[in-house]
Amino acid sequence: MADFDYDLFVIGGGSGGVRASRWAAMTGAKVGLCEEYRYGGTCVIRGCVPKKLMVFAAGFSEAVEDATGFGWKLTGSDFDWPFFIEKKDREIDRLEGVYQANMEKLGVELFRARGVLKDPHTVELSSGQTVTAKHILVATGGAPFMPDVPGAEHAISSNEVFHLERQPKRMLIVGGGYIACEFAGIMNGLGTEVTQFYRGAQILRGFDDEVRGHIAEEMRKKGIALHVGRDLVRIDKTDDGLEVTCTDGSRTTFDCVLYATGRRPATKGLGLEEIGVRLTRNGAIAVDDYSQTSVPSVYAVGDVTDRVNLTPVAIHEGMAFVETVFKANPTPVDHALIPTAVFTQPEIGTIGLTQEAARDRYDIEVYRSTFRPMFHAFAGRDQRMLMKLIVDKASRRVLGVHIVGPAAGEMIQMVGIAVKMGATKEDFDRTMPVHPTAAEELVTMR
Ligand code: NDP
Repeated sequence: MADFDYDLFVIGGGSGGVRASRWAAMTGAKVGLCEEYRYGGTCVIRGCVPKKLMVFAAGFSEAVEDATGFGWKLTGSDFDWPFFIEKKDREIDRLEGVYQANMEKLGVELFRARGVLKDPHTVELSSGQTVTAKHILVATGGAPFMPDVPGAEHAISSNEVFHLERQPKRMLIVGGGYIACEFAGIMNGLGTEVTQFYRGAQILRGFDDEVRGHIAEEMRKKGIALHVGRDLVRIDKTDDGLEVTCTDGSRTTFDCVLYATGRRPATKGLGLEEIGVRLTRNGAIAVDDYSQTSVPSVYAVGDVTDRVNLTPVAIHEGMAFVETVFKANPTPVDHALIPTAVFTQPEIGTIGLTQEAARDRYDIEVYRSTFRPMFHAFAGRDQRMLMKLIVDKASRRVLGVHIVGPAAGEMIQMVGIAVKMGATKEDFDRTMPVHPTAAEELVTMR
């Protein structure tokens, strides 16, 4: 057998790559990893983590308003953007350090360089070095997609939004997916005047229709100027800012335009096709259930495979890869029933089938409840919570749970266990409610 420099060489130091490298190193394997930007990848550096810090920051504007409803006399609620950005950057630096240290502690050899595949066992690094490995794992993630619109170069993507020096006064957000809706809530909460354009009829395509309608209404109630069926055709830089021309010919000026129009797998320039790694029509790396590509020594996990683009999924795929390859325990990744949250304001938590998808496949019962949570009623806030259970009439199994309201993300994590275990509506009903909470509604719906 040929001698290799490493048992495993990982290209990409994001959630999937870092976890796989650490788990492989724990088995005693010799592991190397290259990363051209920063350890931690999209999630830690310019995604989930800084986004959640911004969600927290944005939430205080409402908290201040709500506090007055409980009798607090508060004055002055200006947001100090540079203070926050500086503090957030320090936290991200700290986390990157933790990621790096955790890998180094386990003996993973790190290279700050871009890696390109030269053959099924060889990676050439931008530093000029060449390394060989028995197995290569590609975990290069994805990158924001920017539509080809005249003036798009004046707009930013989610990569840049975390580093704006000044808080924009007027911001346009284009898109109706996770990132667009989350940032509309964040920036609105921080005091920016937010306009959102979505090209389709309703935001959050793929989510339960009622959830989509409910969150759109709540976002509008909070002051976001959400326009559906609207897109922009050009952006011009003027003395006053960025002048945006819409599909209907109208023109409006903003200080900042954020394109949140999806992400694409980062597969370009990696030498993949040159060595025979098959790509899908979307440009993602095609893999089997064990994350193996069409070249047997090359595996891929995370967003670069465009399966389910979520951090915990990439981490699971990384661990399953190590089980399969380094522990002789072939482990496919179970992509069914993944709970997820959209950190809009209010949040969305969802797992399983939407009412529309379930209706096509099962004879269903739908249990739903909308109410004003006690907290908001007392604070005088006009915000309603929505909860839905989609139940298969025949087996009584809960096929889907959809929640819009405060702490929906926390709730869906726990409900997810029950749904994953195949809980029935009766199992939900047998569970004693925790009173008084909003979540108790999940086990008391009739
Ligand atoms: P999404 O795929 O969720 O949404 C993209 C949006 O952009 C859609 O509304 C889409 O419209 C619209 N769009 C696409 N192309 C164009 C175009 N050319 N012109 C105008 N609009 C366009 O992508 P995001 O960027 O929001 O997020 C990427 C992924 O990151 C998500 O799918 C998710 O997996 C992950 N993510 C998860 C988060 C979480 O778990 N909380 C948070 C953030 C991201 P249409 O619907 O018509 O296609």
